[in-house]
Order: sequence, then structure tokens, then C-alpha cells
Amino acid sequence: MRISDLYVKDKTILSFEVYPPKDDDNFEKLNLLIDTLSSLKSYNPAFVSMTFGAFGKHFDTFETHYNMISKIKEHLDYTLMPHFTCVGTSLADVKKYFSGIKSLGVENILALRGDIPEGEDISNFEFKHAIDLVKLIKAEETFDIAVAGYPEGHIECDDYSLDMKYLKDKILAGADVVITQMAFDNSYLLKFRDEVASWNLNAKISAGIMPIKNYKQIFKMLSMARVTLPKKLQEDLERFKDNNDDIRKVGIEFAIKQCEELIANGFDGLHFYTLNNNSPVNQILDELEF
Ligand code: FAD
Repeated sequence: MRISDLYVKDKTILSFEVYPPKDDDNFEKLNLLIDTLSSLKSYNPAFVSMTFGAFGKHFDTFETHYNMISKIKEHLDYTLMPHFTCVGTSLADVKKYFSGIKSLGVENILALRGDIPEGEDISNFEFKHAIDLVKLIKAEETFDIAVAGYPEGHIECDDYSLDMKYLKDKILAGADVVITQMAFDNSYLLKFRDEVASWNLNAKISAGIMPIKNYKQIFKMLSMARVTLPKKLQEDLERFKDNNDDIRKVGIEFAIKQCEELIANGFDGLHFYTLNNNSPVNQILDELEF
């Protein structure tokens, strides 16, 4: 199914993000991923997205990604949305990869630039920004398109209005859906949603929800993004930082309240960063009675 057909008026839809096990021949990890996705099936997610690896290993990554999508499709009846980062990739390779996943029945792509590799100059690349990929996909009408959005602005861009202009350009170029970076402060998410809605471009938005499980892990992720933690959450994380069970509990309780508020405010979708672990997501969604 195409993602633009999966958003429902007056209902908040669910989606889950997973990452491919590093080695696609690692059956143990693949089986764990299949189990994780099977256990999430009962919440009727509209789609599942799969991240795309780091720069510098594009050929390996193309193959690993293709194999993983193929295996998930073999085992589970999910609408899939692979992520794809275009920076540093040639047009010929992009086309080859797209034709491969299209042959697997994939109808959606999360079109991303990806992080610029250290020491590289973006002006040397065929694809400089995510919008270049959006335009290519739109011209060929290959896939429905989602793009990344940053409720507090992308870390490289100090001008929020300019960052939002670039997002608007991605939607004007053909993106159907915006998936946000993880966010914890709903005031940013709601302001972001209202601004995108004010453009009247009919783009749907899913809020990126990250269930916090580990003190060190979350602060490492936060150091690479522009994301504010609400004061109370920050205090709770500091208080329990030496006990991961408590941190996990804090994370789950926080996410439940955060999602309740987003649902009450009519957010189009909740996109869970599962980190290939279904357990906290199950607890959150059970409590929310999904
Ligand atoms: P862009 O939209 O190109 O924006 C990147 C920067 O360039 C921004 O600062 C923007 O303000 C600026 N910009 C945009 N357009 C222009 C323009 N025309 N001229 C000048 N400046 C411009 N990374 C991975 O490696 N793999 C993944 O699977 C992955 N999944 C992600 C999923 C989600 C939901 C999100 C939010 C991010 C994900 N990322 C992933 C991270 C993402 O690749 C990085 O944040 C990357 O730095 C930017 O990608 P983008 O698509 O937002 O880029």
C-alpha cells in the first residue's frame, strides 16, 4: 500500500522504525527482528520503516538493505517504507537500488540526504540535499515519498525559518508525509505541525517517539541532534541515571503521557523508534489501548 492512503482523518495512525541487523546472514538477529515485528503486528501499524546505513558502505548497504526487505516481505505482511540516504551516491546506483526494491513490491521511500561524511565537500556530490532525491522519485512516480522534519530545526541549520522553508520545498517537490526527528517536548511538535498545516499542502505528519531505555544511550543521541528534554523528564533521568530499570520506567511513563497529548491534539501519526526492541513499545501501546 502507498503511505498517502494510510493516514485516516480524525485518527492517529501508528508506524514503527527498525534497523537492519548488521550482517544479513546473521539468522539469529534476523529472527529476533522478525519476532519483534510479529509481536508489534497486533497494534495494526500502518507501516514499518527500515533505516539505511552509514555513508562509505553504500554497496554493502544496498545489498544488505535489499536482502533484509526481501526477507521481511517473505515473513510478514507489512507495508514497508525503506529509508534511503542519497548523499555520496550516484544517480545510476540510486536507480539500480530503486528498481530492485520496486521489484519486491515496495511502494514507499523515506527520502533523506543523510549525514555528510567528515571532510567531504557536498558540492562534489550528485545529490546535495534530500529534495534532489524527492524530485527524482516524483519525476518517475516510482514511490510515495516521506521526508524528515525537525521540530526544533536541523542541527546544521541555525535559522529555524530557513530550515522550515527547506521542508516546505521538499513537500512542494512531492513529499506526501513528514516523519519528525525524535521529540520530547510536545510544544515544539504541535507548533511544527501547525506551521506545516498552515501551508495547506496536505502533507501528513508523524511524530517521532523515542521510548527512553538507557541514560547513556539517550544523551549520546541527544548530543547529535537539536532536541529539548522537558525539565521534569531531565530531572527524572538524572535522579535514576544509575538504574536502567528505573530509567526504562521513566521513559515508558513519559512516552504514554506524551502520546496521549498528541492523540488528544489530533496528530496524524506516531512513529516509534523501536531500536528493534518491542517491549517498551508494547507497554506504551497497551496502556494507550491501541
Ligand atoms: P535535508 O532535507 O537535505 O536537510 C539537511 C540540511 O540541509 C538541513 O540543515 C537543511 O536546513 C539544509 N537544506 C535542505 N535543503 C537545502 C537546500 N536546498 N539548500 C541549502 N540547504 C538546504 N540517517 C541515516 O543515515 N539513515 C537513516 O535511515 C536515517 N533515518 C532518519 C529518519 C528520520 C525520521 C529522521 C528525522 C532522520 C533520519 N536520518 C537518517 C538522519 C538524516 O539523514 C540526517 O538528519 C541528515 O543530516 C539530514 O537529512 P535530511 O533528509 O533531513 O536532509
